[in-house]
Amino acid sequence: MDTKYIFVTGGVVSSLGKGIISSSLACLLKARGYKVTIQKFDPYINIDPGTLNPYEHGECYVTVDGHEADLDLGHYERFTNIQTTRANNVTTGRIYQSVIDKERRGDYLGKTVQIVPHITDEIKRNVKLLGNTGNFDFIITEIGGTVGDIESLPYLESVRQLRWELGQNSLCIHLTYVPYIAAAKELKTKPTQHSVKKLQEVGIQPDILVLRTEKDIPVDMRRKIALFCNVAPDSVIQSVDVPSIYKVPLKMHEQHLDEIVLRKTGMPVEGEPHMAPWLQFLDKMDAATETVTIGLVGKYVELQDAYKSINESLFQAATYADRRLKLVYIHSEKLNDANVDERLRDMDGVIIAPGFGQRGIEGKFTALKWCREHDVPTFGICLGMQCMVIEFARNVLGLEEANSTEMNPTTPYNVIDLMEEQKSISNMGGTMRLGAYDCTLAPDSKAAEAYGKTEISERHRHRFEFNDDYRARFEQAGMRCVGENPKTHLVEVVELPDHRWFVGTQYHPEYSSTVLSPNPLFLSFVKAAVAYKDERAKS
Ligand code: GLN
Repeated sequence: MDTKYIFVTGGVVSSLGKGIISSSLACLLKARGYKVTIQKFDPYINIDPGTLNPYEHGECYVTVDGHEADLDLGHYERFTNIQTTRANNVTTGRIYQSVIDKERRGDYLGKTVQIVPHITDEIKRNVKLLGNTGNFDFIITEIGGTVGDIESLPYLESVRQLRWELGQNSLCIHLTYVPYIAAAKELKTKPTQHSVKKLQEVGIQPDILVLRTEKDIPVDMRRKIALFCNVAPDSVIQSVDVPSIYKVPLKMHEQHLDEIVLRKTGMPVEGEPHMAPWLQFLDKMDAATETVTIGLVGKYVELQDAYKSINESLFQAATYADRRLKLVYIHSEKLNDANVDERLRDMDGVIIAPGFGQRGIEGKFTALKWCREHDVPTFGICLGMQCMVIEFARNVLGLEEANSTEMNPTTPYNVIDLMEEQKSISNMGGTMRLGAYDCTLAPDSKAAEAYGKTEISERHRHRFEFNDDYRARFEQAGMRCVGENPKTHLVEVVELPDHRWFVGTQYHPEYSSTVLSPNPLFLSFVKAAVAYKDERAKS
């Protein structure tokens, strides 16, 4: 079959959840046996989101091949179990960089280089890259931003041209917002009409509308929208707020989104998507009544999206442990010896978050000392693992000013230090240790027990490393280095074996946790937290 291209655009306001709708559709198509991938085109000029701080754009997600990506790629993977790569996330910056490189090379010699056709051709080339591999039946392309933005224009022009070239092998889904005006007690369709007009102005007729709404949209109102927007009435779908994003695929299936997509792209519509494992997960989620309380110690606590993948991994693990996740954000900057007991004593488990820079770091040490001394299940991720090492050095090895050279370049005890190959790098973009690396685990470790094997591969995003010169001293004092890279011998996992569950990973296990294949280390951590809770309830 020809590869089918589905474009997803958004209108009226941002944050409508285009990523969730794209992921839900991919989930359904995959459950019908199709090979699917999702890609995101972001209209900003940064080459990638790696240099953006989380306040700007939420978490930076990392793909197996080491691309620093938009957090929507995390949704794509969690909903579909597919692995995305650099090719699945393209920004305006990358498009321009490539066009400008070609211009300097002389590829356009003699020609004036313009947005149309040169930028749009480059966008189209990138849209079709994954399709051209022949590995996919459906390519879902999410266009970032909102219709009407100046930034999105070249992308929409490219979509217009592609629709023309691809004919029935392409489709456009437009997501809009239907607000409820409380004072008038009315749902309003006008913003949707305007947004579709905007899309039509640039030459794109949407085939399917997905209307985000807080209230049920009556059938006659949906008919009215269909009429005004030139869309078939059965292709106007509503997406009412649901308690969990993982229910959206079902909501979309109830309204036949997958069937409509198949029909409109000329594919046979037969049978039902195989959603049994997904439904089992949702059943567990709905059935869980007892909670497990996890404290997340970090500095971006005001911002839900900053730790997106950790939240989702915890949620998935809690669901599989038949518990409702109660996630408590603990601001590392506000944590000190005076309040740590009060802030942490109700936690069944504590996560020390990843991060960069000095801010909030002392609070992480305070939390870790308390957790270590109280033997609370504790999980340190990346910077969180580095903090475990530093806290242990200071308070157990007695190396008072131990630090990472990231925080104090002149520390006398550089237990966390820059990797040799990082020392000469001055560029900030894409220069960390990024992507999936192998790790060998000690057979008798908690980590190996969790994974059920000793050879694993997980994703990284950091510059600094455990300093091997100190390894023997840590091991003698009870902190074991139980995971290392088989080639470089860099330390990837540390543990306190005499504790209930005290594990730190230099890698980010949260990037590989999906609904149907939750990360083993998160499962093991949450199980330990549940056991700790039960233990305390008994005593
Ligand atoms: N700042 C630390 C480093 O660069 C940790 C990074 C992280 O937590 N992702 O090594």
